[in-house]
Amino acid sequence: MSNAILIVDGKKPCALCKRVLPQEQFHRCANSASGLKPKCKECRKLLAQQDYQEHKTQRNAQRVESNLLVKIEVLTHYSRDKLSCVLCGYGDIRALSINHIEGGGTQHRKNLGCLNLYRWLRNQDYPEGYQTLCMNCQYIKRLTQHEWRK
Ligand SMILES: [Zn+2]
Ligand SMILES: [Zn+2]
Repeated sequence: MSNAILIVDGKKPCALCKRVLPQEQFHRCANSASGLKPKCKECRKLLAQQDYQEHKTQRNAQRVESNLLVKIEVLTHYSRDKLSCVLCGYGDIRALSINHIEGGGTQHRKNLGCLNLYRWLRNQDYPEGYQTLCMNCQYIKRLTQHEWRK
């Protein structure tokens, strides 16, 4: 009975765009009553593209998030599990970053190029000689050590 409704004169309405299209415009599907997929090939293609786009944005969002997670993890490690500046205790992650205890951070950053410092530190299993500092303390430290002259 449902077959009669689904296919008329070798044509079938698409469940999505509602156009009545010839059978060839539908992929075969052994499980369905009509033996064809409910949506036409064109719609399925569009949906697949949409799906791909959505997954792409999702993947990007995940990457951004995990970058932040790595940053939090590394900053936490280098602030003795406090996630704050080791000198003044300032805890706003936006103002926190990793600092070379012995200086030379700028050169190191250059060597790393585009590689994410936080990921690099984690990949190296947290090498010694780094600390979590806030912008203020980094600035003050640079002034007092004359790090800018190097
Ligand atoms: Zn369609
Ligand atoms: Zn500080």
